[in-house]
Amino acid sequence: MASEERRHFYGSEHLNRAAERRSDAAWIEARLELATTRLVPVWECRNLLRLDPEPAAGFLRRDEVEDGELARSLPVFLGLDGDDIAWFAVLFDGDEPPALQSDEAVRFAGLRRSGPLLERKAAGMLAFARAMANWHATNRYCGACGAPTRVRDAGWLRCCTAPSCGREHFPRMDPAVIMRVTYRDRILLGRQAAWPPLWYSVLAGFVEPGESLEDAVRREVREEVGVTVTRVRYDSSQPWPFPQSLMLGFSAVAVDDAIRCDGRELEDARWFDRAQIQAARDAGTLRLSPKASISRHLIDSWLQHPDGT
Ligand SMILES: [Zn+2]
Repeated sequence: MASEERRHFYGSEHLNRAAERRSDAAWIEARLELATTRLVPVWECRNLLRLDPEPAAGFLRRDEVEDGELARSLPVFLGLDGDDIAWFAVLFDGDEPPALQSDEAVRFAGLRRSGPLLERKAAGMLAFARAMANWHATNRYCGACGAPTRVRDAGWLRCCTAPSCGREHFPRMDPAVIMRVTYRDRILLGRQAAWPPLWYSVLAGFVEPGESLEDAVRREVREEVGVTVTRVRYDSSQPWPFPQSLMLGFSAVAVDDAIRCDGRELEDARWFDRAQIQAARDAGTLRLSPKASISRHLIDSWLQHPDGT
């Protein structure tokens, strides 16, 4: 079932990141001023969205943003699309959203709710911009010495301003493992108390320092449900911009089916066979994670392959 070519929602594979251009300040500045350039505004980690008549991304042209507003933004070069058009995230902070000139009825809103409703490429662009916004918002000060940091390389580097330190900080993501655990013809699904009613998903957790991905899979499953797993296999990955995770998908096989739910991270966990999932969904007593998530991919690919694990 593993697929090396699988591309998940919130990816940005359609964009050439042109990383070699990031340190070319003159090129970056010229591209930012071009009329064809597209801007992806983010204010306080909220994306610009058009919510009527249907949800869509609020991309703007350069002339739709006043010079004064652009001057108070932090531009981050995202890359070049297939038409050689440059895309920039423009990051704003403060109590008031920026005044943006646009014909469309747009507003800043959270991506978590609207994201899955967007066209795939647009969702990937917004997720990319949001992840960069979150990284900048949490790296204004040097983690080593506490001095302010200064932005360089088109938003891809923050340098510590203390001469005695000068440490360079690069954008990062937080690796998390997410795993489909099966035992014979059943899959293990659990739910957190904070989730919407009837919602079940595969297990997941952050990778800890000093740990391999496979170790993280084994530890999380043992901690959350007391199950020992073997045959840990990589499936695929998904950038998940809430706020800056990289979800690394795995499958694993349980050595037995005894569950000991920790009651802390999960309020319930159960084994389901394919017929039980079908019946529960038909009866409206089970909801699976959203279609846009790798979690749902791990469940669906198992549902669709009765012979697989
Ligand atoms: Zn420092």
